[in-house]
Amino acid sequence: MVTDMMEWEKNVRKVEPYVPGEQPKSTEVIKLNTNECPYPPAPGVRRRAEGFDYDRLRLYPDTEAGELADALCAYYRISPEQLFIGVGSDDVLAMAFQTFFNSGKPVLFPDVTYSFYDVWAELFRIPYVRKPLDGDFRIVKEDYMVENGGIIIPNPNAPTGVFEEVGVMEEIIAANPDSVVIIDEAYVDFGGESCLKLIGKYDNFLVVQTFSKSRAMAGMRIGFAMGSPKLIGYLKDVKFAFNSYTMNAPSIELGAESVKDAEYFRNTVNKIMRTRERVKKELSELGFVFPDSKANFIFASHEKTAAKVIFEELKKRNIFVRFWDKPRIDNYLRITVGTDEQMDILLENLKEIIAMQTVVERSIKSDD
Ligand code: PMP
Repeated sequence: MVTDMMEWEKNVRKVEPYVPGEQPKSTEVIKLNTNECPYPPAPGVRRRAEGFDYDRLRLYPDTEAGELADALCAYYRISPEQLFIGVGSDDVLAMAFQTFFNSGKPVLFPDVTYSFYDVWAELFRIPYVRKPLDGDFRIVKEDYMVENGGIIIPNPNAPTGVFEEVGVMEEIIAANPDSVVIIDEAYVDFGGESCLKLIGKYDNFLVVQTFSKSRAMAGMRIGFAMGSPKLIGYLKDVKFAFNSYTMNAPSIELGAESVKDAEYFRNTVNKIMRTRERVKKELSELGFVFPDSKANFIFASHEKTAAKVIFEELKKRNIFVRFWDKPRIDNYLRITVGTDEQMDILLENLKEIIAMQTVVERSIKSDD
């Protein structure tokens, strides 16, 4: 192969970036492709945003994100030493990879999971092994009871939506006292159970959550980790060795407001869960199969029509869902749970697309 790489380019850290779901410019789109919340943030967030003193922007923000930290500590009943705040959980997770996965041994995560994990592992030159989920997309816990340099598992998993009981997660944590275990709980508020109660029991265990889904604040970029003071202390050292002022002042204030309104939060997630359960039934009636989801999305495959065809047809109709042309999951669509109205439009269109495909198939058969 002829290469025209310049001398300096040989010393560039080369990485293949993560590919996020599309953020279309048009507001006409029904956007069910990045697991955002279809409802607005809590009303208090709006009031606070409207009253934000813009002169404050002259000043650096609070490096400790104090107001937000206080609200989170009160809500989750933890101490400030057990909390780490970052700019979205992607920021928290990337920092955790860099801080904790330095043994040279492979980090373990499922083969079907959040596709940022292998990107961070490549970025930080961390060896990793993907452990195959079983045929029902469930975790095989014994796979995580071998020598490793760390473990990361989302619970519920993404993009499958499958939730594993806290007891299973605890077995994995308990079997790994020599490495750090991270449970990524980006979707835990939609009917799963948090492993938070285990942070007092295991020094080497970190729970990571986000404001991007259940708190309807993906645009603010707020994520956080909870763990033992020792673990959190190491994370903070790395963070403050990198950039002290990562979270901006509006995010700190608006994030805090969101946490203060527990009732609005509960109502929002309950609405999404109700819609999810209804859509599950209707998808089944249309011939879709899916693992049971405890997240704000459904990972569905049609028994006759290829996922890629449905994905493209939906896109033509301005309905965006997520599709990966990857082994094991290339016949699945990940559909974010939107409002009831959005899901009705989705279901109508799915019905049409499937009927259309059946007609196409029949005419192909009769041509034979
Ligand atoms: N973890 C999982 C499993 C996710 O699906 C996402 C959303 N892309 C994140 C973490 C990151 O979310 P955020 O950075 O918006 O907090």
